[in-house]
Formats: sequence, C-alpha cells, structure tokens
Amino acid sequence: MSAVLPLPRLLVLSLGGTITMTASADGGILPTLGAAELVAAVPGLAEVAQIEARSPLKVGSASLTLENIAAVAADISAGFAQGVDGAIVIQGTDTIEETAFALDLLVQDERPVVVVGAMRGPQQPGADGPANLHAAALVAISKEARGLGALVVMNDEIHAARFVRKAHTALTSAFVSEMAGPLGLVAEGRVRMLARVVRPSLPALAVTGALPPVALLKIAMGDDGRLLRAVPELGFAGLVIEGAGAGHVPAAIAASVGEVAAQMPVVLASRTLAGPVFERTYAYPGSEIDLLTRGVLCAGLLTGVKARLLLTLALACGWDRTALARAFTAYG
Ligand code: ASP
Repeated sequence: MSAVLPLPRLLVLSLGGTITMTASADGGILPTLGAAELVAAVPGLAEVAQIEARSPLKVGSASLTLENIAAVAADISAGFAQGVDGAIVIQGTDTIEETAFALDLLVQDERPVVVVGAMRGPQQPGADGPANLHAAALVAISKEARGLGALVVMNDEIHAARFVRKAHTALTSAFVSEMAGPLGLVAEGRVRMLARVVRPSLPALAVTGALPPVALLKIAMGDDGRLLRAVPELGFAGLVIEGAGAGHVPAAIAASVGEVAAQMPVVLASRTLAGPVFERTYAYPGSEIDLLTRGVLCAGLLTGVKARLLLTLALACGWDRTALARAFTAYG
C-alpha cells in the first residue's frame, strides 16, 4: 500500500489587476475579486496544491508601490519560513515586470515566486486568467523552477524576472524576454524548463518603511534638459535616464547630466529596452563614454524601470557608489 503524500503548500497573494476585474455599473471593469475566488474558479487547482489565499490589495497595477511589493516580499519570506513550497502573486499585467524584479531582489529563497495576471478580464470571451493561474501554480510547486528567483508565468511561458517585459497592450502573448527568451513552458500540465537564468549575487536588500524617491527620465530627440535639471530641486535621491540607443543624450544636455550626477547617483539605461548599455564605443558629446566620464553609472542589461527599482532599494539600504557600481555591473 503506497502512502498518500501531502499536497505541496502554496501561498497565493492577490493585489488586483484585470484578472480580478468585473463589470462596474458605470461601464468598464474594476478590481473586485480576491485570491480565494480566483483560486476557486480554476478547475483542478485544489487537487495540485494546498492553497493559502490572501488578498492584501485590489488595485490597478499602475497604483502599486515599491513599498507594497516590499510588504508582499515580507509576507512571502514569512510563508517560506513557515514551510510553504512556493508563492504566487496575482496582479495587473501593466507592472508585472517591476513586481517580479523587485521580488527577485527582495526574496532570498530557492523556492519559486511566480507573478501572474491576465490580459482579459474574467467576464470576457477567452478569459486567460484561470489558465495562467493554473500554469503559475504548477510552476510555483515544481522542483524545476527552484533557484531561478522570481518568475512571470503568462500564456504558458515562464520568464525570468530580470528579462521579462510587457511588450503589447492587448495580446495574450504580450510578455517577452527579448534578451534571453522564455526560460520554459507549461504544456500538458508539465513544467518544462529549457534554460536557466544567471542570477547576480548581491548583498541582501532588506527594506522597511518609506523608500527614497528615484526619478526615471526618458530622453527624446531635441530634449532641452529642463526636466533633467529640475530633478535635484524636486527632492529626488537618484535618477535613471533612459537614453537613446546604446545610452545617448543630445550633446546640448550632456553637461547637465554631469551636474546632476555630481549631486546624486545617476544610472544610464537604454530606451531601446533590449541589449546592453554601451561603455566604450562612442566618444561624441552626449555619448555613453562622455556620460560615464561625467559620473553616471551604467545600467547594463537592465531596463529603466528595473534599474530604478534596484537603485531605490540600494539607496534605501545605504549602499555607496562603489556598491552601486558593483551591483549594476553584475547586471551587465
Ligand atoms: N490595467 C490592468 C492592471 O495592470 C491591466 C492588467 O491587469 O492586465 O492592473
């Protein structure tokens, strides 16, 4: 007679997003459903895991804050300390890539943390929420997904937090990892990992309470530097610039970048959103070599929104310039 193994334990935290949204009386959809209702709507989910479902928030994901996600990270770490085998965070897709990367930085554990959402609401034809949640649960309890940090599971694909990006406003295939491809997929109820992600080992980023404000500035053709020069007086503690191409700004504002970098950490990312920020190719005024000489740090392969999260958490932990440079180099 074979012993019946207990089901794996799964913590499911819901923060809102389209996956939770139902029709409002005034038109449009609003977050109304909680984690327990979402779990109950997925056929067969109760047979794969023993689920603890909680709903700390019910918001559109553009309203989430890094403080919210730090609290979620603390809940997940507490769940792991109490023996859960994996964790799922349900939220809106608009900022999934930010939540996933923040959790990747904040949760130090081998066990999977999976962030999931839906492109279509539960009342829309072809609602993708239940299938996404089912796939996320299979990944979150799988041995194969251990040690990969936070993951995003959407459209049956498994993405690494450091690479994933929402690249379309509407399609269920909106999530891509241009620089690495998805790490794996879920098919026939089985988690199939195709690749493993290299995870930089950084010192622990333990944060609580209010976090320092970090600005994110995208540079466009003809930018005259007005917003850039306003950043210090607006009280920001750091700045991420999304430069053009491999990390470039108009020559006319290069000196202003240097002036801001003398007052606070300034990190240079690329608005291209794929590929590394260069460090040693172009030498004209406003080029990456010029800006690095003027004191900016290079975001490496991190997009602007992810570089902003790392800079915010690192500043909250009091990291100095050397530690910041080391951390961003690790993502290069
Ligand atoms: N606007 C929604 C949100 O991010 C979109 C979604 O959930 O997919 O909350």
